Formats: sequence, structure tokens, C-alpha cells
Amino acid sequence: MPSQSASPKLAIVIHTEEEFDWNGGFNPTATEVSHGAELLAAVENLKEIGAKCTLAMDYAFVTSEQGLQCINKINADDELIRHVEFAAHLHPWVNPPLSTSFTDKVPEQFSYPGNLPEDEEYNKLSTLTKEIAKAARQSPVTYLAGRYGIGKNTPKILKKLGYKIDVSISPFVDYTHQYGPNFSRYNNDEFLTNTILYWPHTSAIVSPLPFARKYFNHSPAAYSKASLWRKVMRKIVRAKLHRLSPEGFSLTDMQNVTKYQYELGQRCFILSFHSPSVKSGLTPYVESTAQAVEFNQKVLAYANWFKNEFKGEFIKVKDHPQVPHDTI
Ligand SMILES: [Zn+2]
Repeated sequence: MPSQSASPKLAIVIHTEEEFDWNGGFNPTATEVSHGAELLAAVENLKEIGAKCTLAMDYAFVTSEQGLQCINKINADDELIRHVEFAAHLHPWVNPPLSTSFTDKVPEQFSYPGNLPEDEEYNKLSTLTKEIAKAARQSPVTYLAGRYGIGKNTPKILKKLGYKIDVSISPFVDYTHQYGPNFSRYNNDEFLTNTILYWPHTSAIVSPLPFARKYFNHSPAAYSKASLWRKVMRKIVRAKLHRLSPEGFSLTDMQNVTKYQYELGQRCFILSFHSPSVKSGLTPYVESTAQAVEFNQKVLAYANWFKNEFKGEFIKVKDHPQVPHDTI
């Protein structure tokens, strides 16, 4: 656990990707990116208040016209590039080498990169890593699996490709009912295994009762247990899972997740959202122009609060204090 006196740190991780049809399955040809200008504006607005962004970019974004323009504009601005980290986000259904067996629609099972055979997962991430290095002129060291889908082969693949940090853990959540990973035994603790630092996407079991928050933080698996007694207990203590995200959560919710987790000893926080949410009509969270304005203001309001009232600092993911540095 980090020292109690350390100032809190915030990394903003943007899942930077194509405009995915959230109810349409995993279509290899659905690769449109039309929100490049809005994303650049959001990153610039955050920079104005000193905030840093980690753009976890997928293949469709990195190879799109607007994506490349966005990357080039960030790289061309000395001040802006100091506030941005380019990281990798693997959506296997749009990332070459594409499967010849599923040309129309990739089955849900293979939407999680960690479920692919090892050579396929490696080849896709290797292709993405090279594409990011070419477009952004720096090799990514931070990895975010598409749909949080890390698997048993992912750690050695990451190590082989030079990655140092994985931010794919989504604490408390069990995705096995949809073929995904089971994170129900994980809370927000960072840990280092085989030279890769795992820094989970900040989430919290919120409840008005401090003992309940403490209980679930220490026994995360208790939250998703399906027994009747657990269900009743969760209802009695009004326990709910909140992610530190502007998507579906209010500014107050976001502040509460941060305050509650700070009380439990957490010092490094990840705020996350999907890049298409910065523009109207592209994700279920932002359906109108007014909601897009509200969304962007909420992100800025949270960042301002974190800096000015919560007395925190902004970092890129790769600048987490526990990231191992090469010793040779
Ligand atoms: Zn994604």
C-alpha cells in the first residue's frame, strides 16, 4: 500500500478507438473515426489545466485519416506532447492479421484478445505496436486490452513486445457470462508481476456505510457472489459498483469514488472513458449536442476538482511511481 502522505495522482486513460456500434456485434469493417477534432479539443482543454492524457489507441484509430491528423497535431506541439502518452488498445476484430474464418462478424468469444490462440494475439498486438510506433514516433509501453480481455498468454506477449504497464483489470467485475475475464477477486491494488505493472481501472463498491466499503475492498469476490444472502446484504448496505468514469456517472459519483478509495489507502487513480463520447451521437452515454457539452465539462470539472480541492497531481500512466525502469 502506498504511503499515506503521498499526494494523489490521476491518469486519464482514453480508450481511443473507432465509432463502435455498441449493440451491433464485432464487425471487422466498422472502422469509422469522425471525432478526431473533438478529441483533440478535449485533450487540449485538459492540457490547459495541466492534466495529462494517455491515449490508448486501437488499430482502426491509428490508421484512420482523422486519427493520424490528431496524432500529428499532438506531436507537432511541444507543450501538448508533454501532456500526452500514446498507448495501445487492442480491438482484435478490426486489427490485422484478420481472421479469414470470420469476415462479417467476429464471435463474442474472440472479441477478447486474451481468448485468441497465442500466436494470433501476439501477431495482432505486434502489428498494432508497430503501427503506433510509426504513427506516433514512440513505442507504446502501456497496454489496454479491448473489452479488458487479458488472458493467460498476455503477460509474456507484453514482455516480448516491450510493454511495462497493463491497465486492463476492471476490479470486481466478472465477465465470464460473456466469455470474458473474471476480475471478481481484484480490487484497485496495483501489483508488479514479471516486470509488468498492473494498474487497474479505478472502480469502487460505493455505499453510504464506511464498513461496507471497507469490507468489499478487502473481500472483492464477495460483491459478485450470487447467493441470496449476498444479494440481500448488498441491498441492505446499498452497495453499488461505480467506475471512475464520466460515462454513466455524475461528477458527485466520480468525486465519491475518489474520496472513498483515498480513505481506503489508494493514491493512484485512473479516470477512463471512450474517445467517441467526446462527440454527440457516437456512444450510448452521449446522445445529443447538449450531452456532449455536458460530458466534456464534467471531465474538466473533475480534473479541476482533483487538482485544486483534492490537491492531486496529473501523470501519464507510464509515469506511475512503480513502473520498473530498465536496469541495464
Ligand atoms: Zn475499446
